[in-house]
Amino acid sequence: MSAVEVRDLRVELGGARILDGVDLTVAAGEWITVIGPNGAGKSTLLRAVGGLVAATGSISLLGTPSARLHRRDRARIVATVPQSPVVPPGMVVFDYVLLGRTPYIAPLGRESATDLSAVREVLERLDLTGFGDRELVTLSGGERQRVFLARALAQGATLLLLDEPTTALDIGHQQDVLELVDQLRHDHGLTVLTTMHDLSIAGEYADRMVLLAEGRVAAAGPPSEVLTEELLAKYYRARVRVVAGEHGPLVVPVRPHPRRP
Ligand code: ADP
Ligand code: MG
Repeated sequence: MSAVEVRDLRVELGGARILDGVDLTVAAGEWITVIGPNGAGKSTLLRAVGGLVAATGSISLLGTPSARLHRRDRARIVATVPQSPVVPPGMVVFDYVLLGRTPYIAPLGRESATDLSAVREVLERLDLTGFGDRELVTLSGGERQRVFLARALAQGATLLLLDEPTTALDIGHQQDVLELVDQLRHDHGLTVLTTMHDLSIAGEYADRMVLLAEGRVAAAGPPSEVLTEELLAKYYRARVRVVAGEHGPLVVPVRPHPRRP
């Protein structure tokens, strides 16, 4: 059974067609990375899969049509970490991660001992023990990204939707976060659907990539088939060299026409 099955997805926002007939299959346990130029519709695609934006066409999550899932049930299957999560001012790490338990807490009810221990476990898993009382605004970018992941994991969902999880991080912290996600994927059998801007890093972690352009799938397949000089020139208007790396193709930008003095 696929973790995600999207057919002929269309999204209109403000009268404009943002996604136009997107098909996407993500197998259970797979890591798929969506790339594409700014404004291609990557965030919108993740939001649609997460049930956060109205769409036509069909979306199934673990074999169940998304439209048939109640909000709480969907939240137990899929957890979204948006591009810039809203951080409530004054909120401390423990309470923020506890928000991930919302689908398990009765309306107007209180969190149970199970919810509290789930949060403690996740904090420990993500090396955040000792951060529980810290306000989110005081954390570094890498720490904050781990807290966002912690909230998603506390939710107990098996499908993680990560919108540019590494954009604000230096390359060392980018690798830390992606290694962590990959480790969690193996340990907990998670499925990962993410967007990413850095193409070389994207290709090193993804099983398959989807190149989105103007709301349509322009190319899809293993990194070696999507990260090609031709496709990147055509859809990003970028001049690049693609060289073979240890874990997949590496994309090196090349200045188009250096000016002579
Ligand atoms: P990406 O993540 O690939 O950069 P997005 O999915 O954020 O792209 O946006 C795709 C397009 O949809 C952009 O042109 C953006 O301006 C437009 N868009 C996004 N949200 C809205 C909205 N709420 N109303 C109108 N247009 C929107
Ligand atoms: Mg985006």
